Amino acid sequence: MRSNEHWAHEPNFQAAAASFGDGSAVVETAIAIQQIPAPTFDERARGLYVAERMRALGLADVQIDTVGNVYGRRAGTAGGPALLIAAHLDTVFPAGTDLTVRRDGTRIYGPGLGDNSMGVAALLHLAQALQQHHIAHQGDMWFVANVGEERLGDLRGMRAAGRGGRWPLLGRLRGAKRDPCAGALSGRDRADGGAHRAAQQLQHRRDRGR
Ligand SMILES: [Zn+2]
Repeated sequence: MRSNEHWAHEPNFQAAAASFGDGSAVVETAIAIQQIPAPTFDERARGLYVAERMRALGLADVQIDTVGNVYGRRAGTAGGPALLIAAHLDTVFPAGTDLTVRRDGTRIYGPGLGDNSMGVAALLHLAQALQQHHIAHQGDMWFVANVGEERLGDLRGMRAAGRGGRWPLLGRLRGAKRDPCAGALSGRDRADGGAHRAAQQLQHRRDRGR
């Protein structure tokens, strides 16, 4: 297993990291996402947009499941354990909310921008950096924009994503490490709803803290 330090010296890794620049492209993507209403249980329009972005990036198996989760896959090179990275689509703001964004110097305000359009934008730009700079990883990497994270959604999106039966392609997920701080979950935790919830809540608290 190679360390992060090793990766940090590889030219394509450096280029991928540098491609984020000052982050303004991620912010613009976040605003584009934020402008599409996505109250819990009504995430479809935003999901379609994310699916289009995933297809444009050249991700494989871009699909929307029966509950509305959006999936895209980046193939691994050596069949190692898969990694799932998720960000939730839904917001707490009801349909009809004025989504106008206000800029004040370096600050930008808008309903649902921090929770969770920035998370979804980061998901897309991570995939973009890996794609454009040809970063290889051993196992498949699944990018998931999940529904139903907030309130009455009760994590129904992540529950569905974690059930291999509902999404057979995710049955390949197994054995990878879980890193709640990165918002990433692995197949080993599929049977552990508590771990899913804890990771989501950790990410959620970070969202809210922004
Ligand atoms: Zn959230």
